[in-house]
Amino acid sequence: MTSSEIRQHYLDFFRSKQHLIVSSAPLVAKNDPTLMFNNSGMAQFKDFFLGNGTPPAKRVADTQKCLRVSGKHNDLEDVGFDTYHHTMFEMLGNWSFGDYFKKEAIEWAWELLTGVYKLPKDRLYVSVFQGDEKDNVPFDQEAWDLWKPIVGEDRIILGNKKDNFWEMGDTGPCGPCSEIHVDLRPQEEVDQKPGKELVNADHPQVVEIWNLVFMQFNRKADSSLEPLPARHVDTGMGFERLCMAIQGKKSNYDTDVFTGTIRVIEELSGQTYQGTMEKSDVAMRVIADHIRAVSFAIADGLVPSNVRAGYVIRRILRRAIRYGYSYLGFTEPFMTKLVPTLALQFAAVFPELNAQRDFVATVIREEEISFLRTLGQGLRRLDQIIGQLTDTGKDTIDGETVFELNDTFGFPADLTALIAREQRLKIDEEGFQNALAQQKTRSRKDAASSASDWVDLMDADRVEFVGYDFVEADSHLVKYRKVQNKQGTQYHIVLDRTPFYAESGGQIGDTGHLILDMDRADSVLVKIIDTRKENDLIIHVSDDKDVDEALNAAIAVKAVVSSDRRDLIMNNHTATHLLHAALREVLGPHVAQKGSYVGPDTLRFDFSHFAKVTDEELEQVEHIVNQKIRENIPLDEKRNVPIDQAKQMGATALFGEKYGDFVRVITFDPGYSVELCGGTHVSATGQIGLFKFLSEGSVSTGVRRVEAITADKALALMREQQATLDELKELLKAPKDIVKAVQSLMEERNQLQKKIEALENEKLQQVKEQLLQKAEAVNGYTVLIQRVDVPSADALKQLAYDLKAKVNNLALVLGADINGKPQLAVMLADEIIKEKNLHAGNMVKELAKEIRGGGGGQPFFATAGGSDASGLDRALAKGRDLLA
Ligand code: ATP
Ligand code: MG
Repeated sequence: MTSSEIRQHYLDFFRSKQHLIVSSAPLVAKNDPTLMFNNSGMAQFKDFFLGNGTPPAKRVADTQKCLRVSGKHNDLEDVGFDTYHHTMFEMLGNWSFGDYFKKEAIEWAWELLTGVYKLPKDRLYVSVFQGDEKDNVPFDQEAWDLWKPIVGEDRIILGNKKDNFWEMGDTGPCGPCSEIHVDLRPQEEVDQKPGKELVNADHPQVVEIWNLVFMQFNRKADSSLEPLPARHVDTGMGFERLCMAIQGKKSNYDTDVFTGTIRVIEELSGQTYQGTMEKSDVAMRVIADHIRAVSFAIADGLVPSNVRAGYVIRRILRRAIRYGYSYLGFTEPFMTKLVPTLALQFAAVFPELNAQRDFVATVIREEEISFLRTLGQGLRRLDQIIGQLTDTGKDTIDGETVFELNDTFGFPADLTALIAREQRLKIDEEGFQNALAQQKTRSRKDAASSASDWVDLMDADRVEFVGYDFVEADSHLVKYRKVQNKQGTQYHIVLDRTPFYAESGGQIGDTGHLILDMDRADSVLVKIIDTRKENDLIIHVSDDKDVDEALNAAIAVKAVVSSDRRDLIMNNHTATHLLHAALREVLGPHVAQKGSYVGPDTLRFDFSHFAKVTDEELEQVEHIVNQKIRENIPLDEKRNVPIDQAKQMGATALFGEKYGDFVRVITFDPGYSVELCGGTHVSATGQIGLFKFLSEGSVSTGVRRVEAITADKALALMREQQATLDELKELLKAPKDIVKAVQSLMEERNQLQKKIEALENEKLQQVKEQLLQKAEAVNGYTVLIQRVDVPSADALKQLAYDLKAKVNNLALVLGADINGKPQLAVMLADEIIKEKNLHAGNMVKELAKEIRGGGGGQPFFATAGGSDASGLDRALAKGRDLLA
C-alpha cells in the first residue's frame, strides 16, 4: 500500500462512519497566543472543547500538518538520530464533539488497523490509564472492559498519569487516553523478548502509533475534577509511523513518504543512504525531514527571519544546511533542489506547496546562499574555540562566544550546541540568553508606551460595525482610556456601534469625528485620527486634548467618518482586487498576494513572482485594470457565506490564512475577481475612474511590489506629466517630434564633447613641448619645476607620466591652478629616489602646506590638492629647495 493510499483509506474509513472530512489548518497557528505552530490535530478544534463556538459537525476527521520544534512538544533533537520522530509530520485524527465515545473510538481503531490495513493482531499492544490516587482520578475501567475482548488481557498495559492522562492546561477539559503500540521487530527477536516489555521503552521498532484521548472531566481552578456534560473523543495517529508499520519497514525514512527525497539527496551528494547511524546517514535523515518542515511553513506564509516563528524556520533550515555541508560535502545550495520532488509528492493532499513551488524554492535558495557565505568561516572559528577549550580542559562554550557566533556568522545557539555536543561539549545557554537580552534592551529603549486603565461607561457585550452600509451612525460610548506614547497623549475610544473601519487586511483605518451629545443640547466634537483593532474591539484614536470630562458626561454620540477620504480608500481597495486578478491573468496563477497597503493616496501590492515585471507586462496589466474600470462592473457583496461555498465560488483565499466558517465574499464579475475580503469597496468599478502604476520593484526574495494610484490622483499625475512635456516643447521651440529633438541635442552634445577633448589633448601636447624646453640639468638629473595651465587634475597627472616617458632621470614638480583650486604633482626617477633618499609622497605633503592642502602617493609619483592658489609659487620654490 502506498502512503497516499494509506492516507486515503483513513479518510474514507471515517467518512463511512459519518465523519465530515475537513482540511488541515495551516502549520502556523493563528490567533492563539499560547501556540506558535500547530502541534497536534486537536489544536484547530481547541475552542470547541472549551465550549467557545460550534464545530462544523459532531464527527470530524482529517490529516493535520504538525510541527514539534518548540514549546511543550519539541522533538527537534531526536530528529535524524532516531527513525520515528519528525519536526513536521502528519497527524491523522478523528473527533467526536459530544457524540460517540470510548466504545466506537476503540472498536473503529481496531477495525481500521487490523481489518483495513491488515496489521497483524499479535503485534499490537494497547495501554489503559491505571488511575492516580493522589490526584483522585480513577482507573479507566471502561476502556479496559472494551479492549479486553478485542486484544486479550495480556496485550493491555497499564499506564501512568504522565503517559495516559491528557490535560489541555492547568484547568479545562481532560481525560484518560489509550495508546496503541506496534511491534515491528523480526520474529526471532520477538521470540526472545515479548513486545509488551518494550512498550514505552524508546525501542525504534516498538513504537506508539495512535493515541485515543477520551475527554470526560473538567479540571476546575481548585484542581478538583467534575464530569463533563458532553464527552469528547480526540485521536491522533502518526501517519509516517503508520506507513512504516503497514509497509513492513524498520524506519519511517524507508517508507515512500521519504524515499523520493532521499534519492534526490543521494544523487546530489554522490553518497548512498545506508540507514545506519553513520554521520552521512544522520545528515540525510535530518535533511529529508527538515526540508518538509521548512517548505510547508513557507508555503503557509512564513518567511525565514530573525524573530519568532520566522526564526524557528531559519534555525531548522540552517541546521540542515550545516549537516549537508559537514557530512555530505554540499558547499552550494542544495535544499532548494529538493522542493520540486516534495511539491509533486504532496500535490493532491497539500496543494499549497505545489502552487507556490517556485516561490518556496527561491526563498530557500536565498537563505542557503546567505548562510553558506559565513558557514565555513564560522565553523573554522568554532573549531578554534573548541580546540582552546579542550586544551584548557573546560567543557562549556561561554555565552558571549555563542552570542558572537550568532551575531557574526548567523549560527543559531542550538546549532552551536549541536556541534559542541558532537565534541562532548556544551554551551552556556543562560550566558547566551543574557548576552541576547542585553542587546535587546539596547535596541528597545525608546519604543515604550504606556496606557492607563479603561474607564468603563456602559456595558456592551459586542461592538457592531456598520461601516459597510453607512458612513455615519448614532451610537454610545462604551469605554475609553488615555495612552501615552511617542505621539504624546492620545485617547482610545470604544463605541457600541460604529461606521469606522479599523485597519486590517491592508486597508488603513478611517478618520473622522465624533459628535458628543451633551445635556442641554450642547455638543462637543472629538477628532478621530485613526481606527484600529484590538482583538474584537474597534478602537477610535483621538489626539484631542483633555476630553475626559466630555466623554464622561456625553449622553449619546454621532460617529461620522471622513467620507471623501473613505471614497478614495474604496477606490484603491477595489482597484487592488482588479489588479490582483489582472496580475494573475498576465503573469500566471503563481501570483499570490503577500501583503498590501490600501490608503487614500496610493495602493501597494506585494506578490510572489521571480523576475522583474517588464514594462510590457505592466502595460498589459494596467490596460486590463482600466478596461475593467470602464466596464463599470457592479459590486457583488455577500456576507456570511459558508467557507466551503465561498471556495466553490472560486474565491481567492490567502495561503496560510485561517478563515472562519463564515466569510465575506467580494466579487467584481464572477469570471474575473472573487476574493474573501473584509474591506470596503466601491459600488461599481467606474467610480475608480483611472488606474496608473507608479513603480515596480523587489521587496524580498521572490516577492515583487507594485505601487499605483487611482482617480483624481492618477489624473493629476498625468496632467503634471503633460505640463512637463509642454514646457519641454516650448524650450525646444516646438519641434514636430520631441523625442527626435532631444536625441539630436544629445548627439550634438556628444560631438562637441569629443571636439573639446581633442582640443585639450592638442593643447596638452603644446604644453609638454614648451615644458621640455625649460628642463634644467642639475647634478646629472633633469629637473623641471613649472607652473602649467591644464584643465583638470587628470590632465596634470597625464602630463607628468608623459614627461617621465620622454625624459631620463627626471625630477618633476608641477603646479596648476584648476578653476581656483591649486594642484601639485611630483614625479621622481628611481635613481633619484635611491641616491637622494627622496619620496614623492612625503615631498608633496611638505609642498601642500603652502597651498593649504594635503596629498600623498607612491615614492615615484604623488599628487596634492589645496585651497589657496596664491601659494602655488611658494610651493614650487620649496620643491626646488628640496631637490637642490
Ligand atoms: P512519542 O512519545 O512517540 O513522542 P507522543 O506521546 O508525543 O509520542 P502524541 O502527542 O500522543 O505523541 O501524538 C499522537 C501520535 O502522533 C503519536 O502516537 C505518534 O504516532 C505521532 N507522533 C508524535 N510525535 C511525533 C513526531 N515528532 N514525529 C512523528 N510522529 C509523531
Ligand atoms: Mg512526543
